[in-house]
Amino acid sequence: MAPTFVGAHLEMNCTECGVTLPLPTEFRRHEVPCWHCGKPHPRSLVQGEAVTVEGDLIKIVPTPTELQLGDIIAANIDEQPRVKRILGTPGDTISIESLRLLVNTQRLEDILAAAPNKSVATLPVDYDSHRKQSRWQPQLSRSGWTRSEGKWRFTPPSASNANDWLIYHHQAVYDQMRAAAVMDDVPINVDESRRMAFVDRMAIGITSNAHSHATVEVAFFIDGETRTTNPVIIGESTIIRCDQASVSHGNAALELADVAPMAVRVTSGIASFDELNLFRSVEYRLRKYDDQSVFPITLGPTEYYIVGDNVPASVDSRNYGPIADSQILGIIEP
Ligand SMILES: [Zn+2]
Repeated sequence: MAPTFVGAHLEMNCTECGVTLPLPTEFRRHEVPCWHCGKPHPRSLVQGEAVTVEGDLIKIVPTPTELQLGDIIAANIDEQPRVKRILGTPGDTISIESLRLLVNTQRLEDILAAAPNKSVATLPVDYDSHRKQSRWQPQLSRSGWTRSEGKWRFTPPSASNANDWLIYHHQAVYDQMRAAAVMDDVPINVDESRRMAFVDRMAIGITSNAHSHATVEVAFFIDGETRTTNPVIIGESTIIRCDQASVSHGNAALELADVAPMAVRVTSGIASFDELNLFRSVEYRLRKYDDQSVFPITLGPTEYYIVGDNVPASVDSRNYGPIADSQILGIIEP
C-alpha cells in the first residue's frame, strides 16, 4: 500500500494519542483538533513544535516512453511543478457516475487494486493501539475478545466462536464524536469544509504477536452490503483489503453498516494483535460544485488526466482539464 503525497506541510505529534498531525504551512484556525482523537491543539503549540517538511522525499526521473495509470508524476502547471497522479492516459475515456470518476467505466482504485505492481494510495483511518478507549467492540456479551494496554487478544471461549465478531464503530472527530460513516477526508484539510462524501474502500493492517497463531475472517461494508473474506492466516504483519472480500457467504449473524464498516473474527487459533490499524483507499471523484468539466472526456494522443490524492481540495484536471505530455517533468518515486 502506497502512502499519499501531501507536499510542503507542518508536522506535530498529538499530545493525547501520539499520532502525527499533518498541517498546512498556513492555516486560519485558533485550535486544531487531532484528526485521530479529536484533542484540540492551540495554534501556539503547533507553531512552537512544528517542523516544516519541504515536500516529501521525491525523486524526479526521466519520463519513460509509456506512463501508466496510477503513476505519480510531477507536471508543470502554470510554471510550477505539481505532484499529481495519472488517472487517464491517451485514448482513455474519463466519465462520471454518481460523482465518481471512472476510467473506461471502471473505478481507478479498483483497476489499480487488480493490477500487478500497482498499489492504491491509502490514508489512515484508525490506529487502535493509540487509543485509550477502543472503537472496536465485541458483538457478543460473552466474547473471547479482551483488550489490555491497547492490544486485542482472542482466546476461544468454551462456546462456539462462530459469531464472535469484533466490530469497528467509526466516530466523527469534527462532529462531537458522533457515530458516523468514514468520510472522504484528509487530515491536512483543517481549513476545508467538512461536507464530504462517504467512502467504503477500506483495508485493515494487523501486527501480530509472535505467540499468535490465528486464522481470521474480515468483513467489510462495501457498496451497501456486508462482504467477508475467506480465512486469512495472520503473520507478523498482515494487510487485508476490502477487494479480498467476496459476496457474503450467508453471514446473517453479522450486519455491518456505514457507521460500523468493518469486523474481524478468529476462525481458528489464538490471536494477539499488537496493532490493529485501519486504512482507506483514496477514492477519486468529482466535487459537486467545483468541477465544471463536461464528461465524458476522451483523451487525445498526447493528453493525460491528472488528479491529486487530496481529492477534496486538490486543484487538478477536474478544474483545468487534461494536460499535454510536454508538461510532464517526470515520475515521482518515494
Ligand atoms: Zn490525537
